[in-house]
Amino acid sequence: MSRLNLSAFEKPIYVTRPMMPELKDYNTRLEGIWNRGVFSNNGPEHNILENSLKEYLRVENISLFNNGMSALISAMFAFKISGEVIVTPFTFSGTVHAITLCGATPVFADIDPVSMNIDPTSVNDLVTDKTTAILGVHVYGNACDVYGLQRIADRYGLRLIFDAAHAFGKKIGDKPISSFGDATMFSFHATKLFHTGEGGALVVKSPEIKQAVELFKNFGIQNEDSVTAAGFNGKMSEIQAALGNCNILNLESEKSLRTSIMNIYSEQLSGIDGLTLPPIMHKEIDSLQYYCIRIENRSDNFSRDHLYNQLKKYNIFARKYFYPLCSDYACYQDLNGKRKINVPIAEKVSKEVLCLPFYGSLSQNDALQISEIIKYILTK
Ligand SMILES: *Cc1c(COP(=O)(O)O)cnc(C)c1O
Repeated sequence: MSRLNLSAFEKPIYVTRPMMPELKDYNTRLEGIWNRGVFSNNGPEHNILENSLKEYLRVENISLFNNGMSALISAMFAFKISGEVIVTPFTFSGTVHAITLCGATPVFADIDPVSMNIDPTSVNDLVTDKTTAILGVHVYGNACDVYGLQRIADRYGLRLIFDAAHAFGKKIGDKPISSFGDATMFSFHATKLFHTGEGGALVVKSPEIKQAVELFKNFGIQNEDSVTAAGFNGKMSEIQAALGNCNILNLESEKSLRTSIMNIYSEQLSGIDGLTLPPIMHKEIDSLQYYCIRIENRSDNFSRDHLYNQLKKYNIFARKYFYPLCSDYACYQDLNGKRKINVPIAEKVSKEVLCLPFYGSLSQNDALQISEIIKYILTK
C-alpha cells in the first residue's frame, strides 16, 4: 500500500468526463456524412444507431431525439397528458418542467429513504380525479419500485412514465428497465454514461404510440401533402448519431472502468460512521451513471456541505445532485396552492447527497487519492 496522498489535484477533477472515441473514428463517420450531404431526417447514421440501441436495450419501439427532455415532452403529448401528474421532487429540473410545459400540474410525492426514488405509498395518497399520470425517475440508476407503481397506475387508470436518464442499459433481473411502464426516456447528454453530445430516446410499449411520437417529433408532418398534428422538432441529427455510433463500441470498456472506480470507492469509504454508500438494490444490474454517497449532517465539521466545500480546496468538484429539490424552486412554489407540499424524506436526503467524480478515464490512483482526502476531511 502506497503512502497516503493528501495533496490537492493539479487540475480540477469534475464529477464526470464524457466518453470520447478516437477522433479518427469519428472523422471516418463524418466523411461519410460529408460525402452524402445528409445531416438529418433519418439518415444512415441515425438508422444504424436506432438499430444498435434496439439490440442493446432489447426494445422494439424506440424513437431517437435531439435531447432527453424533448423525448419526455413527446411522451406527454403522445399520451395527451393533462390535469395532474405525480412526480418526485428529487430529480433534475427537466423532469418536472416537461410536465409543466405540456400544460399539466406537477404534484410532488415523497421518496423512499433508501432507494431515494418516488415512494408508491406517497403516490397513492396523492391520486385525485384530476390525476392522469405518474412520472418516476430511476435516480442514480437505481430502479423505482416499478411493480408498486404499476399497481397504482392500474388501480386508477393512470399512465406510468419513467425518466431513465440515469439508467441506460439497466436491468431488473433479466428485464430491461424500459420494459416497465408505458414509456421510458433516456438522455444521451454528454454527462450521461452513453452519449451523443446532446441526444435522447423514448421507448414506448405500443406501436401506435410510437407512430404518434414520430409524428410529433417531426412537426406533425405525415407526408409531403399532409400535416396531421401540431408537433415540434425533436429530431436527432446525423452528427449526433455518428458520435453515438462511435461511443456505443466503447460502452463495455467504459462500464468496466467505472466498475473498478466504484469498487475502489466502496472499499475505501466503507465503515465510516455517518457516511452511507450507494444502496445495492436487489437483483439489479447497475447502470454505473453516478457514485453518490450520503453524509449525515451532524455538525459544522461533519456535513455534506462541509465535505463539498473542503473538497474544492483539493480541486475536487463533487456535485450536490439533487439539491435543491424541484419542489423548492421559485417557479413551483404556488403550484399546489390548495395542497401543502409534504416531502420530508426528500428534504432530508437532498441535504445529504454528494456525487463523487465518476468516469472511466478517472485513474484508479486518483480514485484512491479522492477517497483518502474524503476520509481525512471527515475524521480530522
Ligand atoms: C440529464 C437529465 C435529464 C435531461 O436530459 P437532456 O438530454 O439533457 O435533455 C432529465 N432527467 C434527468 C434525471 C437527467 O439526469
